[in-house]
Amino acid sequence: MSGFDVAALRREFPILVPGLHYLDNAATAQTPRAVLDALIAHETTHRANVLRGVYRLAEEATAAYHAARVELAGYVNARDPNEVVFTSGTTGAINLVAHGFGAALKPGDEIVISVLEHHSNIVPWQLLRDRAGVVLKALPVTLDGRIELAELPRLIGPRTRLVAVTHASNVTGAVTDVATVVAAARSVGAPVLLDGAQMAPHGPLDVQALGVDFYAFSGHKMFAPNGVGVLWGRAEVLAAMAPFQGGGEMIRRVTLARTEYADPPHRFEAGTPPIAQAVALAAAARWVRGLPAEAVHAHLRRLTERLLDGLAARGRVRVIGPTGLQGRLATVSFAVARVHPHDVCQILDARGVALRGGHHCAQPLMDALDLAGTARASLAPYNDDGDIDAFFAGLDDVLRRFP
Ligand code: PMP
Repeated sequence: MSGFDVAALRREFPILVPGLHYLDNAATAQTPRAVLDALIAHETTHRANVLRGVYRLAEEATAAYHAARVELAGYVNARDPNEVVFTSGTTGAINLVAHGFGAALKPGDEIVISVLEHHSNIVPWQLLRDRAGVVLKALPVTLDGRIELAELPRLIGPRTRLVAVTHASNVTGAVTDVATVVAAARSVGAPVLLDGAQMAPHGPLDVQALGVDFYAFSGHKMFAPNGVGVLWGRAEVLAAMAPFQGGGEMIRRVTLARTEYADPPHRFEAGTPPIAQAVALAAAARWVRGLPAEAVHAHLRRLTERLLDGLAARGRVRVIGPTGLQGRLATVSFAVARVHPHDVCQILDARGVALRGGHHCAQPLMDALDLAGTARASLAPYNDDGDIDAFFAGLDDVLRRFP
């Protein structure tokens, strides 16, 4: 049994009407009423710009924005709230590092990524390569869709300046063995960036225990609105970083001749930030912390096992990624022989099952696996057995229609 009341949890999500089986949580998770309420409460009682006005409303907005930073700092166990930079999302966070940290790199310096990264942890580094002449190296992928960490010693060396990999794959669900990555990076004195877009929604993190230097994630995958995300950076590393964008809020003093920049995090938050979104993200962090973690974990494991077993039982279907429950999230990619993933998704959509099909913004991984794309079911705590039943009924329809 689930150990917690999934039906009650579903009722917290206004969008989860009967007949909708939402299995695309890796792309965007849905938003509970507590988070929507926090968003509306802020906009209807404290809305003003932050860090500038001296009137009451502006001070309330500034206080709410700061409180959101403190909440997110707690969520990742940062040493200091000033290590939390609000960005537009994971993509914004990684681009910020590619510019701010990348500004100090020299031609021939090396950055190590992996083949299974999301494009947002590939393209910013390619742009940096083209700007600064750094060398980009990529760890290969194993047959079961994990980063091939055995190759770390071969790719890491004295010129490695950064190792930037995903904490968990949005395609295969594989969770990266961070300790191995950190040990290898530390052996050459290189910092580590983790793309936490997929991991952050699963519960509070401990960036200090992980031993990394940067951690990036998105609000919209964590039950919060679009347009906000977090870059956590170790204080010393952020302090040494150049700004990314210039504008209001990120300065200490501007003359026409030169500008003195503000300290982090403001140095990296040019312009009006996503204020209400940050407040709602903090509410989402509180909401996640309020879930019964053990019971949710057991629930997701049980549903993932149902997915893996059911897919394995259907002859023409192949799981792309780990086939067992160890070291994986509740995100399961699969390929159906002789059927395009878009056809799979369309047939399931007709039954109210929202599934993602395609390359999942991970084309180098698709190339490595020799696939055009996969179909992917990704679960959140509010998914239930009815969703899995509907998924398999739809999949059997696919197999019937494409004999
Ligand atoms: N990295 C991973 C692993 C992701 O799954 C995603 C979103 N699919 C991103 C980065 C990019 O996130 P965003 O579009 O919110 O910036």
